[in-house]
Amino acid sequence: MKTRRNSERLSYSTRVVRNDSLNMKKYVKADICVVGAGISGISAAVEAARLGLDVVLVDGFPGLGGQAVHSIVGTFCGLYHHGENRYQFTHGIADDILHDLGAQGALHYRHGPSYTTVLYDEVALSRWVERTVLDCGITAIVGAVLREVKTDGRRICFVDLATRYGEVRICANGFVDATGDAALAWLAGLPCREPARGPIYGSQMIVIESIAPEYVPSREELAARLREKGAKYNLVRRDGFAFVFPQRGTALVNLTHMETPLDPVDATMNGLRGKEQADRALEFLKGEFPVAFGNARIRSYGFPGIRQTRWIVGVHHLTVDEVRAGKRFPDAVARTAWPIELHDHIEGYIWEPFDDDHVHYVPLGSLLSPDADNLVAVGRCIDADAAALSSVRVMGPCIAMGAAAAHVLHLAGSGSVHEIDKNVLQHRLYDNVVRTD
Ligand SMILES: Cc1cc2nc3c(=O)[nH]c(=O)nc-3n(C[C@H](O)[C@H](O)[C@H](O)COP(=O)(O)OP(=O)(O)OC[C@H]3O[C@@H](n4cnc5c(N)ncnc54)[C@H](O)[C@@H]3O)c2cc1C
Repeated sequence: MKTRRNSERLSYSTRVVRNDSLNMKKYVKADICVVGAGISGISAAVEAARLGLDVVLVDGFPGLGGQAVHSIVGTFCGLYHHGENRYQFTHGIADDILHDLGAQGALHYRHGPSYTTVLYDEVALSRWVERTVLDCGITAIVGAVLREVKTDGRRICFVDLATRYGEVRICANGFVDATGDAALAWLAGLPCREPARGPIYGSQMIVIESIAPEYVPSREELAARLREKGAKYNLVRRDGFAFVFPQRGTALVNLTHMETPLDPVDATMNGLRGKEQADRALEFLKGEFPVAFGNARIRSYGFPGIRQTRWIVGVHHLTVDEVRAGKRFPDAVARTAWPIELHDHIEGYIWEPFDDDHVHYVPLGSLLSPDADNLVAVGRCIDADAAALSSVRVMGPCIAMGAAAAHVLHLAGSGSVHEIDKNVLQHRLYDNVVRTD
């Protein structure tokens, strides 16, 4: 009895602490700092760690996986060739994800007439990302928003981040801007692009359950009914889809369009309005297709899905003509055949598919700022015109761009990303640029 009372007294004891702002900042050093833990940032971080580099991966969101996990974008697009043998365009972590989630029954392949996409379970992907980050020895810091970027001439020296636990400063040799909004390049004072002709719309994704999968209408039938009856349900968009995920008896619904501005108040309020649109989309599905959706409920809302906001000015500005022509750049780092998918009007989007044998490429120049020696941009924030970007920002090429960033920074070491041996890079990226089996 005496022993127990003593240990109780110990566990009730306290110590007095005081805010000493001088000691609040946490300093982290790494070879490579990846800002943004979406699919392109994850790919960059994992590939860099596998190359033996010391990697720190940060994200403003309190979790890893970016939009692939938290906005429930739901399918891997742009990962397969459209032709007869439908080979895989991108390997690296794409192989691991397809293998590991496939083994869990957490994938569903959709072989459309002109392209193959892969539906994934976002919970399984989330855990895959977390486990892989741990296994690769990557230091992750989430809930960490970029506050300041310090440059010295053409090099980024460190980034300061604000977290709920205090400030963090990360010094690194190389940086990857995987923020989707070019937040790192922007804060470094580098020139950036925004769409000149009004917004590119985002979407509020939802997953619905208690559906009757065999009666879910085709995409064409759904779109026809939306055009006819959408106004009755106060829906702004006149197209979209509900993809069934048979293994879990759910459907992924993408029927909304909302602006995703870079203003903090407008971004938040638009996100809330996006959820109201999603609720009305469910009412539409229930009302118009009662056999398929009469009992449907929303199982989860994603965070607002953001397509294209702000991106870097690069060494190369990828154009829609280069995409249409399938221009093969000598410094190509990624490829896809995904259609132009430009969400530039509220009722719908431009959808421009390509022939079966078409392939288009992303050059390294679109990932590099001419004014920075140790920065590589990936994913949604590389340099392209709005239409070209709309076809190369899907997840297949995002994974390839992440891998390219890791190799470029590895090859650059403490030198410049502009002076690496491009032949060595091409050799290393063979699987993502040349391989066709
Ligand atoms: C609604 C919608 C549906 C889509 N559907 C598909 C689909 O079916 N298939 C497909 O392949 N693609 C789809 N896409 C496109 C695709 O999802 C994205 O383009 C892709 O996921 C982008 O990945 P990313 O890594 O570049 O960016 P993101 O996934 O957006 O990751 C960027 C990360 O950076 C972080 N970040 C941003 N700013 C800061 C900052 N200042 N400080 C710290 N961290 C920051 C964010 O929190 C985020 O986690 C869709 C997109 C949307 C919006």
